[in-house]
Amino acid sequence: MHSSSPLVSQVNVGCIPKKLMHQAAIVGEHVREAHEWGWSATAAAADTAAASDAKAAAAAAPTPLVARHSWSTLVSAVQSHIKSLNFGYRSRLLKDRNITYANMKGRFLTARTVQGTDAQGNTKVFTARKHVVIAVGGRPKYPSIPGARELAITSDDIFSLPRAPGRTLIVGAGYIALETAGFLAGLGVDVSVMARSRFLRGFDHDISEKIVAHMQRHGVRIVRDCIPKKLERLTPEGKITVSFAKTTEGTDQQSQTEEYDTVLFAIGREPCTNDLGLDAAGVSVDQSSTGMHGKILLDGEGFSTVSTNAPPRDPDETTAPGVFALGDVAKNRPELTPVAIGSAKLLARRLYSPADPPSDAVSAHYRSLDYAATPTTVFTPLEYGCVGWSEEHASRALAGKIEVYHSHFQPLEWTIPHREDNACYVKIICTQVSDVELARIESITDPSTRHHAQLRAMRSQRVVGLHFLGPHAGEVLQGFAVAFSKGLTREDLEHAIGIHPTAAEEVLNADITKRSGQDPQKTGC
Ligand code: NAP
Repeated sequence: MHSSSPLVSQVNVGCIPKKLMHQAAIVGEHVREAHEWGWSATAAAADTAAASDAKAAAAAAPTPLVARHSWSTLVSAVQSHIKSLNFGYRSRLLKDRNITYANMKGRFLTARTVQGTDAQGNTKVFTARKHVVIAVGGRPKYPSIPGARELAITSDDIFSLPRAPGRTLIVGAGYIALETAGFLAGLGVDVSVMARSRFLRGFDHDISEKIVAHMQRHGVRIVRDCIPKKLERLTPEGKITVSFAKTTEGTDQQSQTEEYDTVLFAIGREPCTNDLGLDAAGVSVDQSSTGMHGKILLDGEGFSTVSTNAPPRDPDETTAPGVFALGDVAKNRPELTPVAIGSAKLLARRLYSPADPPSDAVSAHYRSLDYAATPTTVFTPLEYGCVGWSEEHASRALAGKIEVYHSHFQPLEWTIPHREDNACYVKIICTQVSDVELARIESITDPSTRHHAQLRAMRSQRVVGLHFLGPHAGEVLQGFAVAFSKGLTREDLEHAIGIHPTAAEEVLNADITKRSGQDPQKTGC
């Protein structure tokens, strides 16, 4: 059941169309470089004639292919794939799982009754015997400035835009802003990104800046430390005039203006909890003025400790017993699709398979996901995959006792088309125990005791953050993320055998410590 306004057969507006558009941009890059690999494109008849004259064919050095892109072809291909996915999900639910589907907007009447309203205004009340799960997600936010809602779009709209966006301004500096700017630039769109503060807040700072520098080299214009104040369209067919000002203190606060065909806000998402009638269900939401505003409070937010006699709560349970929240709508959960799916599977098992108790070894997993070991990838033109802490976070959390190994590299596939050296990068952040401290502990511990094993573990340096900036970052990171969740150490990486020649083996080759001050740039492979 929906919670948000449009009661249409909603197409997926998230990671799948984004990844497909990102891939479209990568294909364009390959087409532009194809001549370096010996490819040329000619009409079929001319091709046959050329083949008959082998000498002439060999002499004709391929020239860059002139690539033109059709926005409408891409949008219709992406949309039809999404529709087929949605059709598949729906028919699997209805036929294979015998689940009742109501295309209605839901509103709680009590903690166990929800009223659904369809597009024609018909209503129906649904009553749950035991449990209700809220998984309504969020929608992109608009800022409260004149013209924003009337003239701008969000990432929800870009994947179905009927015409190419033209000169585009993207406001925001998070995942969505950079990913959208990246694929639009790759498709030949003139793109600017306006950021009010740092890029990719929460991610490793070094790497965020490398991503932005790479995007700038590939045609994305970056407008730093600015915020839009007003959007206007001065004539019905005219461009959108954006007035904006600097955010940095002490600078000239005077407003400047620029004109764009499309303005896209990517300034975060808000949970769809406003019209859900959560009060009637006794479900509490975050009331702060932070980015968490409106998110549903879960166990762990302190409310279940109010009464010492209260029964134990499920980690996904809300303030209303028996009502659960999953995905982006829940407070303090990473806003990532696989996290929502993973927690949903575990919740279903906890609620409906009590006769199948987990063994001790897996009980922690059964109870809840290990959010600290959640890997993710930012699909910017230079992809960025990571798991664990950023260098700044690790340094704060471990009081500076970290060792950072890093390395720049150039993937083999980048050599023939002469792509830039050293744009790709690996950073591995490990716990660090100083040599002096190790020697001291070693001298006072008996090798046969558990302490000695702990000492060895300390020396082997636990990996607390693993970052990869380069092609296929998501594919590279997935396996390392499993190892990370099992306690990966620097020693494990040193002893692992690489797969040659791949970009992934660079994770094993990162052996220069930041502390050493040595240059982590590499030449050749
Ligand atoms: P986000 O990561 O929260 O970033 C929001 C950005 O907008 C920040 O740079 C923020 O700046 C800026 N901002 C906020 N309010 C603003 C305002 N009024 N004016 C100008 N700038 C403003 O949000 P998002 O990029 O929209 O992504 C939403 C969620 O989707 C994220 O949590 C992410 O995890 C998820 N997502 C995941 C993937 C993936 O897995 N590959 C891809 C896309 C999205 P400050 O830093 O100064 O606040």
